[in-house]
Amino acid sequence: MTQQAPTTTLDKDALRKKYAQERDKRLREDGNDQYINVAEHFPEYLEDPYTEFTERAPVTDHVTVAFIGGGFSGLVTGARLAEAGISDVRLIEKGGDFGGTWYWNRYPGAQCDTASFVYLPLLEETGHMPSEKYVHAPEILEQCQRIGKQFNLYDNALFHTEVTGLTWQEQDSRWLIETNRGDRFTAQYVGTAPGPLHVPKLPGIDGIERFQGHSFHTSRWDYDYTGGDPRGKPLDKLADKRVAIIGTGATSVQCIPHLARACKTLYVCQRTPSSVDVRDNHPIDPDWFKEIATPGWQKRWLENFTANQTGQAADEDLVQDGWTDLSKRVRAKIMELAPEDMTVENMMAAYEDSDFEKMNEIRARTNAVVQDPQTADDLKAWYQQLCKRPCFHDDYLNAYNEPGCHLIDTDGKGVERITEKGVVVGGKEYEVDCIIYASGFEVGTPFERRAGYDTVGRDGVKLSDYWADGMRTKHGTHVHGFPNLFIVQATQGANLISNYPHNLTEAGTTIALMVKHARDNGFQEIEVSREAEDAWLELLSQAPPMMIGSTLCTPGYYNNEGKGWGDSGVPVAAGGYPAGAMAYFQYLDEWRRSGKFDGVEFR
Ligand code: NDP
Repeated sequence: MTQQAPTTTLDKDALRKKYAQERDKRLREDGNDQYINVAEHFPEYLEDPYTEFTERAPVTDHVTVAFIGGGFSGLVTGARLAEAGISDVRLIEKGGDFGGTWYWNRYPGAQCDTASFVYLPLLEETGHMPSEKYVHAPEILEQCQRIGKQFNLYDNALFHTEVTGLTWQEQDSRWLIETNRGDRFTAQYVGTAPGPLHVPKLPGIDGIERFQGHSFHTSRWDYDYTGGDPRGKPLDKLADKRVAIIGTGATSVQCIPHLARACKTLYVCQRTPSSVDVRDNHPIDPDWFKEIATPGWQKRWLENFTANQTGQAADEDLVQDGWTDLSKRVRAKIMELAPEDMTVENMMAAYEDSDFEKMNEIRARTNAVVQDPQTADDLKAWYQQLCKRPCFHDDYLNAYNEPGCHLIDTDGKGVERITEKGVVVGGKEYEVDCIIYASGFEVGTPFERRAGYDTVGRDGVKLSDYWADGMRTKHGTHVHGFPNLFIVQATQGANLISNYPHNLTEAGTTIALMVKHARDNGFQEIEVSREAEDAWLELLSQAPPMMIGSTLCTPGYYNNEGKGWGDSGVPVAAGGYPAGAMAYFQYLDEWRRSGKFDGVEFR
């Protein structure tokens, strides 16, 4: 961890001014519309480079549970259902295997940025010991496959299959599922995991369609072109190549060290620097792991991480990393306040102080590591740490000391133009053989666009219409008028962003218990009442302001490209449980274990 900087060195007004200037420079009228639809403009970018497509006959049968998405959510729900004795479960997945995000993201250096012990689902159930504190992508994919095999989820799964229609059939209390492979089958229950970041997006840079060289998006890494592999084998085919990478978010931070070592010339086109703190990854010692992996260990670690990470008092910090450090610092600052001074205003000021200190340390790190002073300066992030996804990496800054690696800072403006031969920044053309788009994924576009289908519930009501004025759920999972449907995501639930899988594993447990309860008691339908949905939304409205998503932040997907979520009607707008993520998980556990499922009708 970086060292604490003394508060006295802070010029808070100057920092506030600098943050505002840097944000204003980046605000754009077109917001999210600056990105172009990949399916429309570059459909080839969405092809699966990893698994061959195999023909199969359309499926027309009935299953007890269908789950749309074969990532962590589907796998954990499938596993929990299997444990509850419900094995007639079908996962439908657009990729060629399980894994979701980790099926697609195989770029060099990809790894989890939350500690493996709390990030990887079902470690205890599968008996897997993570090899590193932050494991690399191939091991995460293997854990997905392990879950799939152990809980027999492969037999009934449909891969390379995209759902095109999901319609409630009132007459027999079932969902009809239609797909792009001609399938038309029914399921009594449907789970969906829309996935927060799975539709790649491309910047609408003038001339993007003109480039004559090679190009791809990081989520479909072209190892045929670059050489190497996701396990870190050098990208040997780039030794004579000039490459530009566009974007410097969390993906870039992980793959740039590999590119910088391999390319003849690498141009990193930066619009906004990421904050990059120390990672401190290390292999796991099996003897140490044996000691901690006593029954119930993963639940304990999950709860401990969430408690530390959401600023709650905890006796110990098991994970001890940049995430818990961040929260503990804020908490320590707040605890310095006298009881009579504990006002929201003072607490926000304490938060700001802590953040200034932390960000000063992170900025100082660029000078300590990067040899070229201008590059070091250009790599400094001028915003609060939670304005963008905080990054942690031990090799990223060092990559700029490689002789062939050049930071092309665009001073917040982005790449100006793309030509047949390369990229233009500040009027200067950089000729390249390949452009890699590390430009992220759609957030804030309509839910049904990202899902690829609209859900049609009772009386033909579409989910997009039901949510036209904003997302309405109980727990982020249950929607009135959409019986036997479970949506698995974080919004309007715990809203825990840092360790996203914690939300998903909890939801999987809930769904399995509810389906089992219905089966054991002969119920055909499960539906939340409109009143319960109203009451839940009313409760959420009492939540304190969220730390992320503020319009005072530099633009990005956290704050709807600077416009804020306000009245956008987009699901991300809503916050989480007012008492915080830990309290939510406790509440949820009691809610489902009581067997009453308050607010939800079984019939
Ligand atoms: P991001 O959306 O975070 O980054 C996209 C990048 O593209 C930004 O740097 C953006 O700049 C830049 N960009 C967009 N348009 C232009 C333009 N016209 N010119 C130049 N640059 C441009 O995508 P990532 O794929 O990096 O990360 C997405 C998310 O995925 C992360 O935030 C994280 O939640 C998750 N992730 C998680 C990892 C993990 O380990 N668990 C690893 C990697 C990603 P600007 O900032 O100015 O908009």
